[in-house]
Amino acid sequence: MTAAPTYEENLRAAKRHLARFVEQPLHHMVHGVEVASGSGATFTNHSPIDGEPLGQVSGGTAEDIRAAAAAARTAFETWSQTTGFERKRILHDVADLIEDRAHQIAVTECVDTGQTIRFMAQAALRGAENFRFFADRAPAAADGQSLPSAHHLNYTTRTPMGPVGVITPWNTPFMLSTWKIAPALAAGCTVVHKPAEWSPLTAQLLAEIALEAGLPAGVLNTVHGTGECAGKALTEDPDITAIAFVGESVTGSAIQAQSAPTLKRLHFELGGKNAVIVFDDADLDRAVDAVLFMIYSLNGERCTSSSRVLIQRSIYEELTGRLADRLQRIVVGHPLDPNAVIGPLIHPRHHDKVCSYRSLAADEGATVMEGTSWAEAPAGGNWISPMLFTDASSSMRVAREEIFGPVLTAIAFDDEADAVRIANDTDYGLAGYLWTRDVGRAHRVAASLEAGMIWVNSHNVRHLPTPFGGLKRSGIGRDGGDWSFDFYMETKNIAIASDTTPIPALTAGNER
Ligand code: NAD
Repeated sequence: MTAAPTYEENLRAAKRHLARFVEQPLHHMVHGVEVASGSGATFTNHSPIDGEPLGQVSGGTAEDIRAAAAAARTAFETWSQTTGFERKRILHDVADLIEDRAHQIAVTECVDTGQTIRFMAQAALRGAENFRFFADRAPAAADGQSLPSAHHLNYTTRTPMGPVGVITPWNTPFMLSTWKIAPALAAGCTVVHKPAEWSPLTAQLLAEIALEAGLPAGVLNTVHGTGECAGKALTEDPDITAIAFVGESVTGSAIQAQSAPTLKRLHFELGGKNAVIVFDDADLDRAVDAVLFMIYSLNGERCTSSSRVLIQRSIYEELTGRLADRLQRIVVGHPLDPNAVIGPLIHPRHHDKVCSYRSLAADEGATVMEGTSWAEAPAGGNWISPMLFTDASSSMRVAREEIFGPVLTAIAFDDEADAVRIANDTDYGLAGYLWTRDVGRAHRVAASLEAGMIWVNSHNVRHLPTPFGGLKRSGIGRDGGDWSFDFYMETKNIAIASDTTPIPALTAGNER
């Protein structure tokens, strides 16, 4: 096993890999060609580390989306007809190239988003895994079921839906985009990808890798720009048959309205305010590790973060004490430093939003604790310290709103029913976590939690064959395994009658 690159090596690699974005504007990728916006518009991409410009990015308009959607529509004619085995081969080649360029992807992501290298190094490799997983399933994607009835042989088939729009957020942009794009391509769909305007860089690396791996031109197109302009146009384009969206719940509502006139199929992975419930019989050492990991990893900018910890009253003081102690030992630092856990937040606007909860928590009557900061943090960056709010209650805004930062809210509960009531007292329903050694209670609580995914005595571990998604304001639909193909494919039923199937005769004298 080779040693992980050092901080200095990461810095040198980032300088080398990011130079191109400073020298040349980042353009769209349409039909295999890099193109500027028709309008010539660009916007500046800023570093979350020091606020310095990382380069200019083409600002897509409806015209650019139109061109990309038309390219995806043309490419669909042939890509949808390639065999599953051919798609499997190309998508494995994509995975190989992601692995080859994993360090480039990881350092680029760190500088573009502020996420730290310890997580982004894994996220880049997860991107390759996503491609491999769906590549292997491509040959059987069209397979259906045999459902014979008394007089017909019914069988189902699946065919790719058409060109799809993939709209992604900025928190782990590369990995999340592969989660959508890999199954779409494996199913035989073509894609127009609109990455988040705050983190555009690694989308370009994916587009380049796909072409290099032999994905035909037009099968994966990328258009940069704001959600209000390029994103909106994508959701309205008549050539786009479905939208796979990851982002905020309010944006999901807007997309639902925007895409209504063209009746698009929609898949939404939205926000969360997930609870981790710790009962007094839990293995507290493991629970503390998991609670900390699930809120302070990935800068807390994670849809499945356990942003509320519900603690049984008998162990509330002990557990919050342990959390507060460990909070002081979470390292804030440069995203390329392998020792750093927390880096700067993505954008000054998001930074201000997250930090505003500090005074709000105090105003609401919670106790505010803060972890360490990075003494050498460059000026102009979106730096933050991890926070813990104790003595909170479910009615407080800090317990109800998605903060999407390294901020944990601790609430006490009395018994099992109280824990379930508080956990479900939210508009969201993405994930739930619970810690207990009582197997019966684990089953009861897991069944009662209003969330799409429950982990018992565990942090979040994604297993690709399992369904991923949320209910309430956390989403519509499921990803993973065959659920992804169900979204990206149309199911057709074919009923073949036997020659003895009774057919009603409407004219007198023809009765059978
Ligand atoms: P966002 O909704 O602001 O933006 C997401 C994407 O949507 C961006 O590309 C943006 O440009 C685009 N967009 C914005 N307005 C649009 C519009 N009107 N039409 C079309 N596109 C539009 O979200 P964000 O701030 O980038 O990401 C953070 C959010 O994402 C959090 O709420 C988080 O919980 C959620 N998220 C959910 C999951 C999940 O799996 N459930 C995963 C990651 C992030």
